[in-house]
Formats: sequence, C-alpha cells, structure tokens
Amino acid sequence: MDLDVVIVGGGQSGLATAWHLVRLNRRREVPLTFEVLDDRSRAGGAWQDGWPSLELFSPAAYSSLPGWPMPPWRGPGNPSAAHVRDYLTAYEQRYDLPVRRPVAVTGVSGIGDPSGPLVVHASDGDRQAGVVVNATGSWRRPFWPTVPGMRDFAGTQRHTADYTGPTAYDGLRVLVVGGGNSGAQIAADLLPVARELTWATQRTPRYLPDDVDGRALFEAATAAVAGQGGGVGSLGDIVAVPSVRHARDELGLHAAPMPDRLTASGVRWADGTERAFDAVIWCTGFRPALGHLRGVARPNGGVVSPDDERVLFVGYGDWCGPASATLIGVGRSAKDAAARAAAVLDG
Ligand code: FAD
Repeated sequence: MDLDVVIVGGGQSGLATAWHLVRLNRRREVPLTFEVLDDRSRAGGAWQDGWPSLELFSPAAYSSLPGWPMPPWRGPGNPSAAHVRDYLTAYEQRYDLPVRRPVAVTGVSGIGDPSGPLVVHASDGDRQAGVVVNATGSWRRPFWPTVPGMRDFAGTQRHTADYTGPTAYDGLRVLVVGGGNSGAQIAADLLPVARELTWATQRTPRYLPDDVDGRALFEAATAAVAGQGGGVGSLGDIVAVPSVRHARDELGLHAAPMPDRLTASGVRWADGTERAFDAVIWCTGFRPALGHLRGVARPNGGVVSPDDERVLFVGYGDWCGPASATLIGVGRSAKDAAARAAAVLDG
C-alpha cells in the first residue's frame, strides 16, 4: 500500500495533524492520501491512562484542538482526563479521521536515502509513505532516575505512568518524588488517605501564580521561542490547579528535600535522618517514545528531522514547536507538519 503521509500515533498530536491534512486537502486538486496508525485499541491516546483526579492545567476553553472547541466541563476545577479522552474520541469521529487501531509501528526504513520511499513497518504489515509524521507522545517512556539503594528498597516503587488513584495507598507511608505538576497533583491526591505522606523535590516547589493557566504557559513558550521571554520555566514549575491549591493552602502540603538514597525500609537524607516508607512514587517525567526510529535526529526547533525532510515530529516539546506537547499548543506544530508534508510531496 502506498500513501502520501503516514502519521504514527493517534493521540491529540496525530489527530491535530490529520485535521490539518483534511483541511489542506480541501484546497488541493489531488488530495494527499494518509492514515493514522495507533497502537491502542481505543481513542484518546495517553488520556486513557490518567488517574481519576488528574485535572488539566486550563479550563476547557483553553484546551482545544484545531477546528472544534473542547465541550464545556461541568465538574469542579478543570476538565478531567476522561473528559479529554471523550473529546478526542468525538473529535476523531466528527471529522471521520482515518485512524487504524490497534496498529503498532515497529520501525521506519529508508530514512536518509532520498532515492527510495520510506517504508513503515507495522503490526498489520508494511506500507510505503512519502512522509512519516511521528506523534507518539511520551507516556510509553516513563523516566526513572537512578538513585542509590533503589534495588534494596523492600516496598513498592511506581511511576506516574502506573498511578491509578489513591485507593492502593490507603493507610500507607508514601514518598512522592518530583517537583513538577504530576508530583504536586499526586501528592495532593494522597495527602488525605496516606498514613504519612512525604513529597520530596530537588528544589523548593515553584508554583505559578494562582491565576496562571495553560493559556499563559502557551503564550510564554511562544514568546521564548521568538526570543522575547524566559519561557515557561521562568513562570514556575507547578500550575496551582484547584486540587493542588487546596492541598497546599488547607491541608498543609509542603515539600521535603530529596533523600540521598533508598534503604531496605525507606530513605536516608544527607544529614543522616532516616524514615520508613511502604511505597515510593517516582513523578520524574517522561521521554519521547521514539523507539521505532532508532536514533534518527530530532528537529532542533520546527518539525523536520535534520536527517531527512520526509520525517516530521509533532507534539513532543519545545524542540518541535512552542508548547507543542499541550492541547492548546499542538495545533500550530500540526499545521506546520501538514504544510511541510505537502511541500515535500509536491517537490
Ligand atoms: P499521546 O497522548 O501519548 O498519544 C500518542 C499515541 O501514540 C498513543 O495512543 C500511543 O499509544 C501511540 N503510540 C506510541 N508509540 C506508537 C507506535 N510505535 N506505533 C503506534 N502507535 C504508537 N497537556 C495539556 O495541554 N494540559 C494538561 O493539563 C496536561 N497535563 C498533563 C499531565 C500529565 C501527567 C502528562 C504526562 C501530560 C500532560 N499534558 C498536558 C501534556 C500532553 O498534552 C499529554 O502528554 C498528551 O497526551 C500528549 O499527546 P500526544 O498525542 O502527543 O501523545
């Protein structure tokens, strides 16, 4: 099967890119043929995996993909992960986007050799593609730090990616590690149920002002890329969503320094203090899930791989577009990717 464009990944980044291809096709005499390959059995990308209390940084009105605004959220706080999943499911149906699932892409050959096509190797067979857009997100690649004593610890160790809610931690002594949004939200989630909750961060948590949400983050990221500001990091690390604000202001959530090492029964700090824990949750981030590309160079700003103009990236972080790893921000990178694909294919 020959296609003009294959999009790998059917989360928000893949869908936004597909939407822009549909729009671009309306203006073309010969439409581009394309499909989206996604290895999940259902729509929604990583939003299917979020824990029940996970809430967005922003209200629905500032969490929309191109073309169709996210429907209003009627619950408390900001929209839940399930609301985003339902929105992506409806988005896909509304535009009748050609998503094939479950189809896992295991490799892409022909990269760097313009004399031949790209060949996408997938669980349902191979297909040739003029352009491959990678939109595989990062949920599949949780980052675990290496900390002395990790192997000695007798309790459970989990990552943000495994966290499914507070029930499993009821009455336990829990250490949550990480000073970003996941760490803050999971610590806030566990504070009311854990017997003891310690939240360890590398530096004092830096909360964004309470009125700053995803829209401001998008604007900050955009300004930084334009060389006109210090970027999202200059604002802080943690969006003070209502659940985190409540835990911080009403329940006394505060952070401890990072321990030096894990021990068989808990952790030890540099000053010799030891504390016992039953469970550690590593909220230490994610890396791009790009195993199928085996080391192909990523863009250094923009969507195009320096190794091959036919290999594009959408949705991973500022290196492939300002705030491109957000709902509000991915549209711009998706539009760039669709335009680049057409330019490459039109020669
Ligand atoms: P994903 O949603 O991960 O979708 C990628 C899809 O590709 C998945 O279905 C995956 O299974 C599939 N896939 C992966 N590899 C392959 C392969 N080889 N072959 C076929 N399919 C493959 N952003 C916001 O805007 N607001 C927020 O409040 C917010 N909160 C977040 C909270 C957390 C805890 C995290 C981790 C991220 C958050 N983000 C938020 C960032 C971002 O919006 C999400 O990470 C989002 O899921 C990224 O979408 P994506 O489409 O790029 O990737």
